[in-house]
Parts: sequence; C-alpha cells; structure tokens
Amino acid sequence: MELAEKLEILADSAKYDVACTSSGVARAGQHGSLGSCALPGLCHAFTPDGRCVSLLKVLYSNACAYDCSYCVNRRSNEIRRASFTPRELAELTIGFYRRNYIEGLFLSSAVLGSPDVTMERMIEALRILRREYHFNGYIHAKTIPGADPVLIERLGLLADRLSVNIELPSEASLNLLAPDKKKTAILKPMGQIAVQSAQSKRELAVYRHAPAFAPAGQSTQMIIGATPESDHHILQLTEGLYKKYSLKRVFYSAYLPLMQDERLPAVTTRPPLLREHRLYQADWLLRFYHFEASELLSSDEPNFNPYLDPKCNWAVRHPAYFPVEVNTAPKETLLRVPGIGPKSALRILTARRVSQLGMAELKRLGVVLKRAQYFITCQGYAGAHGNRAEIANALLDPGAFGVGMQQLSLDQFVPTPLPGAAPALHQLAADGVPAPKAATLIKQEAVQCLVRQM
Ligand code: SF4
Repeated sequence: MELAEKLEILADSAKYDVACTSSGVARAGQHGSLGSCALPGLCHAFTPDGRCVSLLKVLYSNACAYDCSYCVNRRSNEIRRASFTPRELAELTIGFYRRNYIEGLFLSSAVLGSPDVTMERMIEALRILRREYHFNGYIHAKTIPGADPVLIERLGLLADRLSVNIELPSEASLNLLAPDKKKTAILKPMGQIAVQSAQSKRELAVYRHAPAFAPAGQSTQMIIGATPESDHHILQLTEGLYKKYSLKRVFYSAYLPLMQDERLPAVTTRPPLLREHRLYQADWLLRFYHFEASELLSSDEPNFNPYLDPKCNWAVRHPAYFPVEVNTAPKETLLRVPGIGPKSALRILTARRVSQLGMAELKRLGVVLKRAQYFITCQGYAGAHGNRAEIANALLDPGAFGVGMQQLSLDQFVPTPLPGAAPALHQLAADGVPAPKAATLIKQEAVQCLVRQM
C-alpha cells in the first residue's frame, strides 16, 4: 500500500480523538537538532462537527485486536486497515515538519496484536525521530492500556506528553462497551506516569541534564453521552483524576453515533455538544477557580443546566454569598463572581492598591459587567439593579439558543439551530417550528424557570 494511502486511512481513523491541547513545554531550537517547542504547541484543524483538534494527528495502526463497540476501528467493523512501519512514520513526520505543515506529532494507535507489540513499534518510531533525525519538536503519545511498565517508561523518555484514555466514566460501562479493556489496565499506567513524571521533575531540578520523563505531564479523554452516567458522576471522577494522578487535562468527547448497536444510543442521536461544553466549563472551574465538584452538582441536581454556565448556576443557587465588594474581597471570593476570571481578579487586586474601583475601572480591567454587575458592590454601591427577569436574561448563555443560516442552494437559506444549541431547541425545530421562533420559545421558558429558582 502507498504511504499516501496509509496516511489517508490512519489520519482519518484518528480524527475522533479530541485531545486538542497546548503543548505545555517550551524548548528552544538546539544546534544539531531539528525543531523547537512553543507553549501553544500543535497546529489545529476542525472535525466535521466543528470542534478544534490537533495536527499531525495520526494512528500508528487502525488494525485493532479489540472490539470496543463505540469505536470505528473495532475488530468487527469492516473498514480499510493500514499500519505504518516505524521508519515510515518517522520519515513522514520529518517530511511534514520540514515543509512547515506541522509543529509536532500526536501519535496514538489501535491495539496491533497486543499492547506490548504496539508500544514497541510506537517507541521505535519515536526513537528514530528523536535519535536519528534529532527531532526536538513536541510529541504527544498515547499509551496502550495493558502495556508493560518498562515500555511506558521508554515511551515517556521520548514523548513530551503521555496520555492514557479512560474512555468511559465507569467500570460498568467499560465492561459493557469495551470488554477487552480493564479499569486497572488504564489506572495503573496513569499512576506510573504520575510518579515517574514527578520524580523526573525533582531530578531535573538537581541535574540539568537528567533525562526528562513526559515533561508536559499526562492527560486523558472520556466519551460523553454513550453511557448513562450523570454530569455529577463525571465531574467527581474528573476531580479524583486531577487529584490522584496530577493530570494536566481531562478531555471530554461528545459521543458521535456512527454505529448501530443496541448497547449504544441510536444513530439518529445528536452528539451532546452543549453538555460537552458545560463539562469543559466546569472542568475550568475545578482547575482555576478553586471550586469542588460537590459544590457544582449533587445527587439531587445531577446534571448541568443547559441554559446557564456552571458558575452562573452556582451563583444563582448561593444568593447569600453576594454581593461581593470588589474593593476589599479576597481573590478566592472575587473568583466566585460570574464575569470575573483569574486574569481580571488579579488585575483588580493590583489596581485597587492605588485607587478605589468603580464600574468604569472594572470594565477597563476586563470584567464582564453584563453578568458581574448583579453580584458586586463598588465602594458600597450596587453594580446594577434589575428585576429577576432582567437578571435571568443577562445570565442565560446565548450559545444555548444559537440559530444560524443553512444554505440549501445558491440563493436559498434557512435558519437552523447551531450544533451547540440546547437539545430542546433542536427538538422543536425538528418538530417543524421555525428555528428563530423555537429559540424565542425556549428562551422564554428558560427565563421563567430561572426566575422561579431565584
Ligand atoms: S482499543 Fe482503541 S482503537 Fe481498538 S477498538 Fe478500542 S478504542 Fe478502538
């Protein structure tokens, strides 16, 4: 098979991996080596459903020995199969790098025979890249669950970031949909990477030339919407993974129904893009806003409000916390205010050392006043007054009611809900209600619902 044909097959097979990420390492070019690493990392592309993904993203092989029911590469699916040789993959990457098409490599693979065989081939490809071509650019490699710890160590010494996909949010779902994979085979390498990465950082602090093990840390990916776990369950799992394995990122991948299988949602089900978005927002709150998963959701309220971002949702449910006086509140309190992020909180702390802040200053500092004004005071004065309906309108996420134009022919356009709009809007539009009218109806209902909660 021609190399171009292999690339077409293996890049296509890799497109469902959504780990779209910054590299996390900065490494200047060196004499005698090729490439450098910039913090922003890889270049990006967009999948057919509009999400941003990283390039050069390719599988080593899509000839999988496993049969995960949600995956296009599973053993029982009839698709074209291909595998690189280690040298082919290394030369392809270097060729693309020299032509300035890519800035790094994102390498994953199906299970080619066994986890160990697959890992050995991936390691050989990276060894050729690093040692023979002296490639100094960013490499993100996925480890294969069940591989020997020695192989994981060797891979970590060649790649900048490692990841082990947790795939599904519970062991029961894993057993149901991916019977060849075991929970321990996923969590054990995560633990090994966390320990070795921390150890490598300590050694590098003492010996500048100590070998670096996965200097950009590790990440994982979870499929959302293929199984019945709630957002509460997923967020608690995420929090546990961050704490226990020091993950840099957890990526959420809205399930794209491509296969007919009674264990999976019907192929007509829309990918839960808005739910994925809410989980990313909540993930951000865990990592940068000092929120705990148990503050955002509970067993009584197990899923996020589709119309409200998780921080606004928390604020609406905790009126006793507000208003916050921006001229005296500590950073952690400022971070709880909708419309104030980590950067604007820091700017507020710096600016208020020299003068008292009012609304005009807050606007200049990057505070989103549309939301923040109802939750703050400036020198004792309320940022804004509004009735409950006005406040609800200001807080609702406009993305949940998004309507765009779909072009049917050269001069014919119809308004349709955007892919990331709320499921209720898609449903009304599918039932024949014109999209703009459906958006207005759904928004009115969301406002009424929010007013009742206030
Ligand atoms: S092991 Fe990976 S590539 Fe193979 S079927 Fe499962 S998810 Fe797909």
